[in-house]
Amino acid sequence: MEKCSLMLTAPPLVVLLLTALTPGDADPQRLPSNLTTSPTPKTAEAAAGARPAAGGRTEQKQEQHLDCPPLGLESLRVDDSQIRASSSQRSGLGPHRGRLNIQSGIEDGDLYDGAWCAEFKDRQQWLEVDAVHPTLFTGVILQGRNSIWSWDWVETYKVQLSNDSERWQTCMNGTTEMIFQGNRDPETSVLGLLPVPTVARYIRINPQSWFSNGTICLRAEVLGCRVQDPADRFEHDPLSKDDLDFRHHSYMEMRKLMKSVREECPNITRIYTIGRSYMGLKLYVMEFSDNPGKHELGEPEFRYVAGMHGNEALGRELLLNLMQFLCKEFLKGNQRVVRLVTETRIHLFPSMNPDGYEAAYEKGSELAGWADGRYNFEGIDLNHNFPDLNNIMWDAQEKAADASKVPNHYIPIPEYYTQEDATVAPETRAVINWMQEIPFVLSANLHGGELVVTYPFDCTRDWAPQENTPTADDTFFRWLASVYASTHLVLSNPDRRVCHYEDFQTHNNIINGGAWHTVPGSMNDFSYLHTNCLEVTVELSCDKFPHASELPTEWENNKESLLVYMEQVHRGIKGVVRDKVSKQGIADAIIKVQGHDHDVRSAADGDFWRLLNPGEYKVVVWAKDYFPSMRRCRVGMEPHPTVCDFTLTKIPAQRLKEIQAKGGRIPQDQQLRVRALRLRKLRASTKAINRRREKQQQLETRRASRTRGSVKN
Ligand SMILES: [Zn+2]
Repeated sequence: MEKCSLMLTAPPLVVLLLTALTPGDADPQRLPSNLTTSPTPKTAEAAAGARPAAGGRTEQKQEQHLDCPPLGLESLRVDDSQIRASSSQRSGLGPHRGRLNIQSGIEDGDLYDGAWCAEFKDRQQWLEVDAVHPTLFTGVILQGRNSIWSWDWVETYKVQLSNDSERWQTCMNGTTEMIFQGNRDPETSVLGLLPVPTVARYIRINPQSWFSNGTICLRAEVLGCRVQDPADRFEHDPLSKDDLDFRHHSYMEMRKLMKSVREECPNITRIYTIGRSYMGLKLYVMEFSDNPGKHELGEPEFRYVAGMHGNEALGRELLLNLMQFLCKEFLKGNQRVVRLVTETRIHLFPSMNPDGYEAAYEKGSELAGWADGRYNFEGIDLNHNFPDLNNIMWDAQEKAADASKVPNHYIPIPEYYTQEDATVAPETRAVINWMQEIPFVLSANLHGGELVVTYPFDCTRDWAPQENTPTADDTFFRWLASVYASTHLVLSNPDRRVCHYEDFQTHNNIINGGAWHTVPGSMNDFSYLHTNCLEVTVELSCDKFPHASELPTEWENNKESLLVYMEQVHRGIKGVVRDKVSKQGIADAIIKVQGHDHDVRSAADGDFWRLLNPGEYKVVVWAKDYFPSMRRCRVGMEPHPTVCDFTLTKIPAQRLKEIQAKGGRIPQDQQLRVRALRLRKLRASTKAINRRREKQQQLETRRASRTRGSVKN
């Protein structure tokens, strides 16, 4: 029987923890004979192979204990076959559902319920995880059942360990069996640290008491470091061959990393800000281009946006990885990257909601739960905060005698949205400005918590909760979504299991946003109806905030998808609309593709991009005071655009006079004027709000310093 004296060989941190957790406990800890206590710290770290979890300002001891990563119940790295239970109420509440943060469907009683629930209400129930390898177990994270209809959680529990799944030893706290504190509500994740980290292969969670009106239900994660087997002499491949900074970055760390990339690749990068968050954090964008800082004629603009929901942290890290990757590979002369950076202006916006992220980061990757940090500081969901242009367009179509005459693009922001008291987040205001300033062609909006790529419309017609609501560009959107999904290593794996309760594999891992669930005011829909930019949403992983140790694998899962998706900006047709005489580019010319009820406009220099699938198209270009022009343009299968330039002839002044004399009116681009006007109003109200907030902050600072002063006096 190994005694607690073994603790002396434990890392100082563990000893410290023990004293912290069990003050004055001098009794030797009884340990099962078939188990051993902590190995040397070196082994533990090597076994973990991971950097510290995002701990932010959490207590030092907790952070250090989380050095051992989660086994992966949440991330699905732990397979269903590794989880067993004493009993379960039914298969939808089976042990495989006992995973941290798993979400249930709308209805209880289906195959995908929100926890493992035991059949019996007694203290003999357990959920068992087989780590497969000898593992230094350090803790358990517990959560109640996710359900709209039922309230169930476990209030206290014991932990048991075993090497053979037959003889079990209960975790001790001194001479008594350790009782861990579990949950008090269904959603908050609660960490239970083992008083002594212990090596074993199997771990059991054994509920002792539970919510009195409920049954025994739980979702869990287990923390543990894999202990290296001395017999295993084969060196493991690194999880990623790319030498990138794989960890979670706080706001300050993100800024530092972006700066270092900028210093490493000064000729192809630029950092700029598009505004500030509610709490005043700058919204940073990193630009990649062979001519950073300016739009080049004919060169398409691409953007990736991440972190709109602050707790969906993977997208942010992937974009930080992508920055480092593009810089390093460009310097190495990687032809694919050189071509991409030379021919495209790329904008990477890693953190649209930095306030939300900081809140989730402070709790850490395992304890942030499902919703902490999703919203901005004011509690606004940014993906519902863009003006709903869908219903404006659809209403106009319904009222119009000829629906085909109703504008199908560049829909102006509605008046109410530009008011000072409109509920519009500063983050949303900043992004709308940015979208109008740069002629973006293609974008993806990176989210997390599922594995699927969705495409517009996100908002359904007639307020249906769920309905396929295609755009005029449905086939191209489906292509875009498929490009990402079919190259993503997990999404494209036919043997993967569903994240929560929806099986997107039956849809080839892509789905129309409205067909999934309606979202009025989404960024994708706004981007499509207000600008030329096509945007899809990528749900990157089942786990919204994967542990840092998962990041190299996640980078590998997404690397090809991130690159190949950007390359899609070079499809369809592109060209320049020019004046026949002056050869000057014509801005705001309307590019109409026959059979497509969605037009695009030329940018300030007259250049335009129209993403299209292969085929033959009749394209008509209109511009104010010019005769329209028509061309046939053929788009091939090759991954580069067909150049389709247009030269327009001005309507002579004499002819204009004739038209006016006949009582005809030269059509003014009313829509464009309203669009510009409303943006100006939105900017003005943003400025007023910012000024007010600044004054408020100054006042508070002054008040605070006065208070400090009075204390001193
Ligand atoms: Zn999201």
